[in-house]
Amino acid sequence: MITQNPAFIPGPTNIPEVVRRACDMPTLDHRSSAFRDILHPALNAVRHVMKAPQAEIFVFPSTGTGGWETALTNTLSPGDRVLAARNGMFSHRWIDMCERHGLDVQVLDVPWGEGLPAQRYEEILTADTQHRIRAILATHNETATGVLSDIAALRAALDTADHPALLLVDGVSSIGSVDFEFEKWGVDIAVAGSQKGFMMPAGLAIVAFSPKAMAAVSQATLPRTFFDVRDMADSYATGGYPYTPAVGLLNGLNVAAHMLLDEGLDNVFARHRRIADGVRAATQAWGLQLCARRPELYSDTVSAIRTPDGFDATRIVNHAAETYGVAFGVGLGEVAGKVFRIGHLGSLTDVMMLSGLATAEMCMVDLGMDIKLGQGVAAAQRVYATGASEPHREAA
Ligand SMILES: *Cc1c(COP(=O)(O)O)cnc(C)c1O
Repeated sequence: MITQNPAFIPGPTNIPEVVRRACDMPTLDHRSSAFRDILHPALNAVRHVMKAPQAEIFVFPSTGTGGWETALTNTLSPGDRVLAARNGMFSHRWIDMCERHGLDVQVLDVPWGEGLPAQRYEEILTADTQHRIRAILATHNETATGVLSDIAALRAALDTADHPALLLVDGVSSIGSVDFEFEKWGVDIAVAGSQKGFMMPAGLAIVAFSPKAMAAVSQATLPRTFFDVRDMADSYATGGYPYTPAVGLLNGLNVAAHMLLDEGLDNVFARHRRIADGVRAATQAWGLQLCARRPELYSDTVSAIRTPDGFDATRIVNHAAETYGVAFGVGLGEVAGKVFRIGHLGSLTDVMMLSGLATAEMCMVDLGMDIKLGQGVAAAQRVYATGASEPHREAA
């Protein structure tokens, strides 16, 4: 197996060497002050990354899926109505989790490749004069289709309808890579995981609760034990954990979150935008379409690229893995076989991305697609080149 190559899957992402070393720790007593010196700086750094100055941050040994469960079980009761749009595999799975918890889910189905329909949320919220809807669910970045939705528009929908429902947001593949304005957007719960924008191994669910979400916790009656944020809050107050924490991962999270802050969040977002622009330029040069239907929906963390009708996109992913030792993402659910995905989030540079685009290009040529070597790479190079030799760029 080749392990030197970067991965181009939309999570888990590449792990910076310093983060890997931070995760690899000798045993440390989690009741010691040394542990508190890891935990509290990590929670504070996460709070800054999410722009959530007033939120409570909780980190569970789990994954993003556990973060979804934390959000639901701590704020809702059996039979509660929630409103959720489905525009891909991840929004689908969160809806499925709601149903399995006995929630009454009002599902807005939209075509895969579309964003969350703020207008329809607003109409339904306005019509709900009894305020039966307790929460609205939103997947900020639908990782299956490469679609980024407008969370501020959902907040505006709630405000226009003057509706008190909680706004629960899945930011697993956006937080730490693209702007996430917890406070400004009036988000009540945000969910992240360690293995995407935080550049870590999988193993942590990272959640933020607004004061309004915390106020809902004592009313909520869905069963919860492991994910009960009250136990977590009580333990944090005394510097500890309600059970054995993943100390090494928390140490890694502290380092990783500070790396993002040291780079500067705006620089992190600009880097993701530029790298994504290169991927999009390559896609266009290949004559292929993104699954995301309009430029304003394009995700800066993952691109789902449609292959021509009759061509099984999964062949590209398999060929890249077997022949070149490079990982791309397969299409999921409704778009399985129709798209392959290039993950471009986390610890990534322009130069790394060029290697991924060159590999995807080789695979498509190997498999007989109507593409020439260098086509997409050159288009990305024109995005990434500094501009020092403008005439050459024009000539190319
Ligand atoms: C990866 C992902 C998840 C699931 O996270 P796990 O860590 O695999 O449980 C949820 N939502 C989105 C948008 C994701 O990209």
